[in-house]
Amino acid sequence: MAGAKPITIVGGGLAGLTLGIGLRQRGVPVTLHEAGHYPRHRVCGEFISGRGQDSLARLGLRELIKQAGAVSAQTAAFFTATQSSAPRPLPAPAICLSRFALDVALADKLRALGGELIEGERVAAENIGEGLVRATGRRVQVEPGGSRWFGLKIHARNVTLAADLEMHVSSNGYVGLCKINGGEVNVCGLFRKRASNPGDAPNGRDLLLGQPGSPLRERLAGAAFDEDSFCAVAGLLLRPEQAAARTELCVGDAITMIPPVTGNGMSMAFESAELAVAPLAAWSRGETPWSVARRKIARDCDTAFARRLAWAKWLQRLVLTPALQNPLAALATHSDWFWRMAFEHTR
Ligand SMILES: Cc1cc2nc3c(=O)[nH]c(=O)nc-3n(C[C@H](O)[C@H](O)[C@H](O)COP(=O)(O)OP(=O)(O)OC[C@H]3O[C@@H](n4cnc5c(N)ncnc54)[C@H](O)[C@@H]3O)c2cc1C
Repeated sequence: MAGAKPITIVGGGLAGLTLGIGLRQRGVPVTLHEAGHYPRHRVCGEFISGRGQDSLARLGLRELIKQAGAVSAQTAAFFTATQSSAPRPLPAPAICLSRFALDVALADKLRALGGELIEGERVAAENIGEGLVRATGRRVQVEPGGSRWFGLKIHARNVTLAADLEMHVSSNGYVGLCKINGGEVNVCGLFRKRASNPGDAPNGRDLLLGQPGSPLRERLAGAAFDEDSFCAVAGLLLRPEQAAARTELCVGDAITMIPPVTGNGMSMAFESAELAVAPLAAWSRGETPWSVARRKIARDCDTAFARRLAWAKWLQRLVLTPALQNPLAALATHSDWFWRMAFEHTR
């Protein structure tokens, strides 16, 4: 695109890479700065579910993800320390692929389309103004008090699951087990710790293994863990935020993070990236001022995400209330209505 204004993206996770690809497909010059290197393991359940799958299809990326080894998830089951729901079909299939394989596939695609991808460079991201997009991922919780959220992930072999996705809840969080590429199982958990209890230091491996005697502990009893895949992330801010409240142009978790129990954060990264492509291409061609493009993207993202963010907040509260966990397991077994409602309203 002769004379097109370039766009710089800060952050090469799913949102930044997908946006870069979409812009290159429209001939926009793109430079993307990523603090880390590819491939790398990320704390993520690696379960892609929801409308982001359609965004990937429209951007021509479904085949790429399939070739990278993605597997389909069709069933799910819910476990507490003492109860199990029967496996149920997911209302719509999910696709599961390690971030180790997914991020590098997207990074290679961006480069193949002529995007400039600079790895190992952390950009001072205070001033994200005209021509710059913030795709730097989750924001860190800074407020004192309350609960502190942290996430852990490891891959394992020799694990036989009752369903393609198993959710195991406990009093301090939940662990998802999900089949991914290469015959491995993703073991990923979100946990909370009271800020008022600093002595209660988490032991990552023990938390992911579950309480002695729990169905989770039993499931992972014979697992062979890939130690290199273990990773952790802390300070997660799970309060819903609006894109329109920001002065910067943001995509993905940089707008807001949906509670991971939904398995919808990656979808929101893909969707927000897709929503940003056309307005940014129009800015690049000189047809729209930056402020107009930024406001349109923010409005479209807020419209797309408001309902699911509200439902996700309540679903996470329900799932993490110990007294409600066994009734929820029973509902998940007996009520098709509840199962569908929880699934459909959070994506
Ligand atoms: C425990 C847990 C489980 C989850 N499970 C799932 C799941 O099963 N399904 C699902 O859909 N979602 C899940 N998610 C959410 C999902 O991982 C995120 O929503 C998704 O990764 C967001 O993509 P992103 O591109 O916005 O951010 P990220 O993938 O975090 O990428 C941001 C990138 O920006 C880079 N960066 C940051 N600052 C700078 C800087 N200053 N300069 C340069 N680079 C920078 C970082 O290195 C990073 O690579 C989970 C999250 C957690 C915590």
